Amino acid sequence: MSDQNQSAPAPAIKLQGLSKRYRRADTLALDHVDLTIPRGSLFGLLGPNGAGKSTLINILAGLVIKTGGKAWISGYDIDKNPRLARAHIGVVPQELNIDPFFTPRALLDLMAGFYGLRRDRRRAQDLLEALGLGDRAEAYPRTLSGGMRRRLMIAKAMVHNPPVLVLDEPTAGVDIDLRRQLWELVRQLNTAGVTVVLTTHYLEEAQSLCDTIAIIDDGKLITCEATESLLSRLDDKVLRVDLARPLESLPESLASLGAERIDEHHLRFRYRGQSQTLSRVLQQLSAEGLEVVDIHTREPRLEEVFLQLTGRSIRLGA
Ligand code: ADP
Repeated sequence: MSDQNQSAPAPAIKLQGLSKRYRRADTLALDHVDLTIPRGSLFGLLGPNGAGKSTLINILAGLVIKTGGKAWISGYDIDKNPRLARAHIGVVPQELNIDPFFTPRALLDLMAGFYGLRRDRRRAQDLLEALGLGDRAEAYPRTLSGGMRRRLMIAKAMVHNPPVLVLDEPTAGVDIDLRRQLWELVRQLNTAGVTVVLTTHYLEEAQSLCDTIAIIDDGKLITCEATESLLSRLDDKVLRVDLARPLESLPESLASLGAERIDEHHLRFRYRGQSQTLSRVLQQLSAEGLEVVDIHTREPRLEEVFLQLTGRSIRLGA
């Protein structure tokens, strides 16, 4: 039983007023973060560099000491029940520091020892196989490719079979093929029931992989919601119209619908997704006798949501 008083199963992670001040640098890296990550979620923690993502993860991993607030992992308070809390989480750090002297199997045995588990050849082999490293169990680490090393780091974090797996920037600096491979692996783990939390500053990654996204900026939690609802929040759409003949000036009837003239052959309309504007625009174009060659619409992207919520681009500093 976890130490939270509840009837429903505890969330994978719960943070209450979590804060961290790095005293020497006098940096407030986390500023009263309240966050609940439900079990079974594929959760994205998104924010530009320096937002506080690694600090948050390192607190959960027991590598950084928080300076305020509380945190529970699978219902276990990290202060009151540090061992149990830690037994319920596996953390894959950003750096790929693999000891050159340990084969994948030896590394897993060593980790099992750290967790006080007995050596379990079967489990180590199953884990290596699940991560596509079955035939590399006795390989020299230097012979492993970058992708294999990343998968080995995941195996290392999963030795104790934790229900929550945290990946810190799993695809930073990784090529497209390997990124897709890692996404697939993350999806498989999540389908198998593991709650996966990943940090990223790649919006495309959060958008295509995660069911829920929390945005963190400057140590503060800006929002946490279902990916779909986050995207629908900004339902501004843009319609571009290509005209068959040049247009000298914008008719008032179109200007009043919010049209802008980009140049003599192109108009742009911005409208709310659910509104009637699109059909009115098309009717009005025809009423003005303007022949349309093509129209293009664009859906909002997570990048624009981020800009709207924080007032700055995530690409800055990323
Ligand atoms: P992210 O993972 O989102 O890039 P970090 O958690 O690494 O963000 O950093 C958050 C803030 O805390 C940044 O301003 C960073 O400079 C600062 N910071 C991180 N680690 C330390 C440290 N060990 N000592 C002092 N400041 C730190």
